[in-house]
Amino acid sequence: MDTGVTFPRRPTRRISVGDVPVGGDAPISVQSMTTTKTADVEGTLQQIYALAAAGCDIVRCTCNEVEAAEGLAQIVPRSPIPIVADIHHQYRMALAALDAGVHGLRLNPGNIRKPEHIQAVAVEARDRGVPIRIGVNGGSLDPELYERYGGRVTPEAMVDSAMAELALFEEVGFDAVKISVKASNVPLMVEAYRQLSEATDHPLHLGVTEAGPLPEGLIKATAGIGALLTEGIGDTIRFSLTADPVEEARAGRTLLESLGLRERENVDLIACPSCGRAEIDVIAVASEARDALADRQLPLQVAVMGCVVNGPGEARDADLGIAAGRHRGHLFVKGTNVAVVPEDEMVSTLVEWAEFIAEHGTDAALERVDTEKARREAEKDRAELLEIQGDDANASGQRVELIGKRFD
Ligand code: SF4
Repeated sequence: MDTGVTFPRRPTRRISVGDVPVGGDAPISVQSMTTTKTADVEGTLQQIYALAAAGCDIVRCTCNEVEAAEGLAQIVPRSPIPIVADIHHQYRMALAALDAGVHGLRLNPGNIRKPEHIQAVAVEARDRGVPIRIGVNGGSLDPELYERYGGRVTPEAMVDSAMAELALFEEVGFDAVKISVKASNVPLMVEAYRQLSEATDHPLHLGVTEAGPLPEGLIKATAGIGALLTEGIGDTIRFSLTADPVEEARAGRTLLESLGLRERENVDLIACPSCGRAEIDVIAVASEARDALADRQLPLQVAVMGCVVNGPGEARDADLGIAAGRHRGHLFVKGTNVAVVPEDEMVSTLVEWAEFIAEHGTDAALERVDTEKARREAEKDRAELLEIQGDDANASGQRVELIGKRFD
C-alpha cells in the first residue's frame, strides 16, 4: 500500500562493495556475517548461499588466521554476493584478505592502533580499489580514548575514534570508506550515529552490537536501527543476533521493507491477533503460512484471519487472504471472496494463489473463478457464525454495561 509517507535520507557519498553500491541514493543494503570457520570453504559457502536467498546483499567472514585468508581465496570467486573480511588485531590479516581478493575490509580502530599498520592497509586497499569499513565498537574502544573521556564509552569518544582513523586514511589519499559506531546500548548507539552523521558524509553502516538472542535481540536491534533509519541516517545495516545468520538477513530485509526503504521482495504476512470469534488457532495457522511462504520471493501482502465475520473486511487491503468459517477457509483477493476450501487446505491454497497472483496479477486471479459463488458461501458461514456467536462474541457489551454502571 502506498501511503505517500517517506523518510528522506541524509545525503552521503557513494562507494561500492563489489557490485553493491553503498551510500548516495543506492538502496540501503542488508549485511550479515557467517558463523562458520572461514577455513571451512564448503560450509561457509553453504551459509552464504542461504544468506543471499534470505535477502542478504553483502556478507562478512572473519579473517583471523592464515587458513581463513586461504579459505577466502576460494570462497570469493564462488560467492553470489560480495565478501567483506573482518579483521581484528593483526593488520597482516587485512593484507592477506586483500590478496585473497575480498570486496571489502572491516577494521576495528580499537584493535589495530599503530598508524603505520593502518596506513599500510589503506594504501594496499586504495591501490586495489577495495573499500574499508571503520568499525568502531563501544566494547573495544581504544583504551586511550576511553581514559580521555573519563573511563566511559561515550558517543563523542566513539565518533572521535572513527574520525581519527578516517584522518589516517585521508593522509594516504584513501576515501572509499564507510563507518560504523556500534554499541550494545541502544540510546548510546543512536546518539553516536547522530553525531557521526553530522561529522562526515561517508556512508554509515548501522548496527546494535551483541544485541543477543531472539526475541530481545531483535527488538533492541530494530529499536536502534529503525530509529536512525526514520531520521534518514544509515546506508547499510546489520542485525547482530545470537541466532542463525539467516534470521539476521530476514530481519534486515523485513525492517527495510516495512519502512518502505526497499522494494518488497518477500511476502508480508499479516494476521489478526485472534479473539472470541476465531474459528481456528490463528497463531498456528499464521506460523504455518509464514514457513510455507518464506523465501519464495513473492512481493505480496498475505493475511491470515481468524473468522469470516470480520476477517475479509479487516484485511481488505491485503493482496490475498484467508479467513476461517464453519470448518472451511474463505479465500479473498483484495477483499473479494474467490474460493472456499477445507480447513486443512487453507495454507496450501494460500501458497498456490500467492504464486499465481505474483505471476499473473490480482485481476487475472479474480477472473479465473466465480466470485459470486464464493461470496454467497462466505455470507452463509458469516450468517451461521453470527447466529451461533451473536454479534458480541467478545463480550464487549457486558464490559460497556459495567462501565456505564460506574457512572450511574
Ligand atoms: S474478529 Fe475475526 S478477524 Fe478480527 S480479530 Fe477476531 S477472529 Fe480475528
